[in-house]
Amino acid sequence: MGAFLPNHNDPIISILLLLGTIFVVSVLSYGYSIWKQERRQKELLGFIQSFDSSECALDTQSMEFEPSMKKPLFLLAVAYERSGEYSKAINLYLYLLKYTSDSSLLRHLAKSYQKAGFLQRAVDIYIEILSMTPRDKESLYRLEFIYEHLREFKRANEILEVLEAQGEDIGRLKEHLMLQNITKSHMQNDEKITKLVELINSSSSSWAPLRELFRVDAKLAWRHFSNKDYKKLVDILWKLESWQIDLDIIKEHREVSKMYYAKGYLAEDFLQKTADESSEFFAIDLIADARDSGNRLAEATFKYSCLKCKSSSPLSFFRCPNCHSVYSFNIEVLVEQKREKSSYSLQ
Ligand SMILES: [Zn+2]
Repeated sequence: MGAFLPNHNDPIISILLLLGTIFVVSVLSYGYSIWKQERRQKELLGFIQSFDSSECALDTQSMEFEPSMKKPLFLLAVAYERSGEYSKAINLYLYLLKYTSDSSLLRHLAKSYQKAGFLQRAVDIYIEILSMTPRDKESLYRLEFIYEHLREFKRANEILEVLEAQGEDIGRLKEHLMLQNITKSHMQNDEKITKLVELINSSSSSWAPLRELFRVDAKLAWRHFSNKDYKKLVDILWKLESWQIDLDIIKEHREVSKMYYAKGYLAEDFLQKTADESSEFFAIDLIADARDSGNRLAEATFKYSCLKCKSSSPLSFFRCPNCHSVYSFNIEVLVEQKREKSSYSLQ
């Protein structure tokens, strides 16, 4: 302190000098923060300009902005977003960003672009958000999802590493990404099968790569089948052709035996004593009972629902199309009347 202040003996002068220094530093610091904020707003406006496009259907060009309009316009934009009118929502978010420079609106804008299918624009905005707040988990998860959708698996994996460094549990996502990398990349069938088997042996959700293996090499897939995976594979197993089933393995699994009896692939004597027991799926029991009484017109169909958000789909999914959660689907088996009469019995 002695070297910093002038050499004199009056303590009042010293205190005044110290206070003066603190004041000057505070003013400079305040000025710097104002300058930084203004620069950030200018950058944001510059960034927004590139998104101001003709796809947006709502005319905001002639609309004069008043600060009191911010909340109602924001609520209107959210309503448009929820009702699927993304171009109108995008236009309003852009308008609000232009006049308020409120960067919290960027996430809404990115989400709307993502839902509207403008994935690259959504990527640009999420990267902009992350340049301001690098630890924004929601933006990281959404960016990872888009990279996965664009089949940019390396980038998606880099995002997962960032999330993992933040303590996020990304085990399932990582396994899912590895599976997507195998199934969506262009590789020879032999290499694909080898990688699927590796993933089955190392994955905590082995049923997921096993579903894919049943699609490409059912005979090999049966060797990795275990009863615990039956509920996640019932649709794939039901849809196999009779020549794709492995009788030696099936006879070890009562549930699967009953399913193939219901399907018409197995004769009653193959089931032995266990056939009367009920199985995991009531619909399959019904079809088997109908077969017992001579009715062979019942067919199984499948409905997929998400255990997390409860949305349902007629198509199977590894990632919920609504909430994007991984491996959260549940299979429901339904009964319908067969359209064509056919017999698959091996007898
Ligand atoms: Zn869901």
